[in-house]
Amino acid sequence: MNAIWISLKENIKCSSKIKDVAHKATVPKRSSSFDEDNDTTTNRFHELGKGEASRNVIEMIFRSSSSAKAKPRKIKRVLKVNNPADVVANFENYRRQVMMSSKQQHPRTVVDGNEVLQFYGTTMSCCCSRLRVSRLCSLAGCRVCRLIASGFDTYYNKIHGIRLSTKSNAMTEEVGAAAAHKAVIICRTIAAGVEYSVGDTILVPNPTALLPCFVILFH
Ligand SMILES: [Zn+2]
Repeated sequence: MNAIWISLKENIKCSSKIKDVAHKATVPKRSSSFDEDNDTTTNRFHELGKGEASRNVIEMIFRSSSSAKAKPRKIKRVLKVNNPADVVANFENYRRQVMMSSKQQHPRTVVDGNEVLQFYGTTMSCCCSRLRVSRLCSLAGCRVCRLIASGFDTYYNKIHGIRLSTKSNAMTEEVGAAAAHKAVIICRTIAAGVEYSVGDTILVPNPTALLPCFVILFH
């Protein structure tokens, strides 16, 4: 599974430039008046259509990372996160800081800051009423949009810390409003500086240690 992820993240840099491994010609266009996908300065999401190669890989990662006891889940939508250049730069700067720290003893720390794939379980409200999800909404209760907009520096995370899991079925936040889809955010994570690691869960001290790459909506 990890080899698949490494291959995917090399092709999809999780930045604002859409360099997708999928065949875009297979994706039906929902908007004829304005091609929002090309407006990467404001569009933080690019929805991957059913059958797209990269969506199939993400679904495979999602399912293969589920714990054995978890109930089967039906994937509704998959969104690629378009991160602005400054967000990516902050992530890379954090990686360099960790790599240069003499206190870090993990052998992979000197290679890449011990970057790992982690899941953040939450919910998303705006997708319930939107045919097309491309921009961040302004709903106070839409957790995915508030997480992406704040760079994971939310009120909830200030209190509880940023908890991530290697298991895609672990819910970091409790499920709140009924009118929301369960969501998991796949994050590239610099794990060298984690505060603690218990079982499948880690607590990340710094929001810039995360780079959100995909949002999977399911029920
Ligand atoms: Zn939203």
